[in-house]
Amino acid sequence: MASEPLIHRFPQAHEGAFVNAYLVETGSSIVAIDSLLTVSASRAMREGVESIGKPLRAVLLTHSHPDHYGGLTELVAGDDVPIIAPQGVIDTITRDDDLKEQILRPMFGDEWATDRTFPNTPIGDGESVTFDGARFTVIDLGPSESPHDSPWILGEEERIVFLGDQIYDRKHCFLGDGFHQQWLANIETLRDRFAENAVFHIGHGGPVGPGAWSWQRGYIETFVEAVNAADWSSPEQAQAGVVAEMKRFLPTDELSFLMELSVEPVAAQLGLVAAPA
Ligand SMILES: [Zn+2]
Repeated sequence: MASEPLIHRFPQAHEGAFVNAYLVETGSSIVAIDSLLTVSASRAMREGVESIGKPLRAVLLTHSHPDHYGGLTELVAGDDVPIIAPQGVIDTITRDDDLKEQILRPMFGDEWATDRTFPNTPIGDGESVTFDGARFTVIDLGPSESPHDSPWILGEEERIVFLGDQIYDRKHCFLGDGFHQQWLANIETLRDRFAENAVFHIGHGGPVGPGAWSWQRGYIETFVEAVNAADWSSPEQAQAGVVAEMKRFLPTDELSFLMELSVEPVAAQLGLVAAPA
C-alpha cells in the first residue's frame, strides 16, 4: 500500500496567518489546494514546492474568493498544470475579478498580483482526479460562504477533507455575499456526510473536526439575528451594534474586518436598508 500523503500548510508560520493553502505531497508529486492571496505568501508557497523537490501536478480550488485564488500566478510559476474547479467557481472568479481588483488594490497594493491566473479546468460534482494514487473528489456546493464553493475530499475513506471556508476556526467570518441561508443548509448536509473522525483542513485556521459545525452555525445565526435586531434608522449605530454583539460572541479581532464588511450587505439583503445602487 502506498504511504499516506503528507499535508503541508502555508504560510508555514500559522500564528496570525490571514489565510491558509495546502500542498499535498505524495511519493512522486505535489497537488496544491488553493493559492493564498498575496504575492509574497504565494511566492513562499512556491518555494515550498521547490524545497519538496517534486513536480506540481495540479491546483484544486475550494471556492471563488480572492484570498484563495489571488496567488495562482506565483504558485504555478509558469508550470503547465490544470487548475481545477467546478464551472460555477470558474465563472464566478472570472466574472468578479474586476470588482475584486477595485477592492483589493487599495488594501494590498503590489501584494495583490497584477497578472492574475484563473482556473482552467472544469470538473463536475462528485467527479475525481487522481495523481500518483491520491484521489481527490469534489463537492460542487453552489453558493455557500462565497458565490460558489467546492470542497475536496482526499482518499476513498472520506476522512480528510479540504473544506475551504465552510468552517472558520473561531475567527470572524465573511457573510457579505449574502448566501447565509444556503451556507446553513450546506452545514447540515456536510455534517451528515462525514464521520466523527473526519479531519477538516480549512481556509482560516484549523484543522478542525466535526464538532466545529455547531460553532459555525452559531456564529452565522448570531450574526443574522444581530443584523435583524439592530435599529437601522441610524445605520452607523446599527453597524457598531452588530460589531459589538459579534465581539461579545467571539472576543477576538482576528478577521474582524471580514465581519465588519458583511454587516451592510446582509442588512440590504434582509430588506433593512436600501440595497446599494
Ligand atoms: Zn477565505
